[in-house]
Amino acid sequence: MSSNNELEEQANKIRLCTSCPLSCSRTLAVPGEGCSHADVMFIGEAPGSEEDSQGRPFVGAAGKKLDALLLSIDLKRADIFITNVVKCRPPMNRVPNLDEIKACFPYLQKQISIVNPKIVCSLGNTALETLTGFRFISRVHGKLLKKSNQLIFPMYHPAATLHNPLLKSTVEIDFLKLKESMKETISKQSFSKHENERIDRFI
Ligand code: URA
Repeated sequence: MSSNNELEEQANKIRLCTSCPLSCSRTLAVPGEGCSHADVMFIGEAPGSEEDSQGRPFVGAAGKKLDALLLSIDLKRADIFITNVVKCRPPMNRVPNLDEIKACFPYLQKQISIVNPKIVCSLGNTALETLTGFRFISRVHGKLLKKSNQLIFPMYHPAATLHNPLLKSTVEIDFLKLKESMKETISKQSFSKHENERIDRFI
């Protein structure tokens, strides 16, 4: 099955999911969307009100901010895959609780394994903690981490820059660092691929 079809199969499961109480209060589940073989995958916290009505991730104010940040490093939505830790909106936009995160985690794991991105970019504390177990975004934002063989690049959530203008330039700088990390990761991988090809030919 192609990765596009695999992602669609997951999306259909998510749309019908009743594994946690958030399924009772949602309008639409928000599975995520984008390029099925993206080099970079962005993971936010949970859908907000606009996402809940449209069934699409990051289509509200935080999404507009994210689009501008992507553009600043020459990326478009079509170049990335974007989803959230939990796929249904928590009432009043509260932070999802541990049971909700646990219930949704297999979907996220499956999406990561299908897209197989070179870098996963976590947006905000919930995504960072879910993916790494580490809580303090202020200590690790803008740095490339490795967890179970997956490169993770933690960022502040774009919504945080809407409430805290001091974070605006920090996030802008972190996006530039992400661009550099992507370049380095891709060139290292193609270097080792060429090396392997040379070794194969030599043998
Ligand atoms: N905030 C998120 O974390 N995800 C969305 O989809 C929208 C806002």
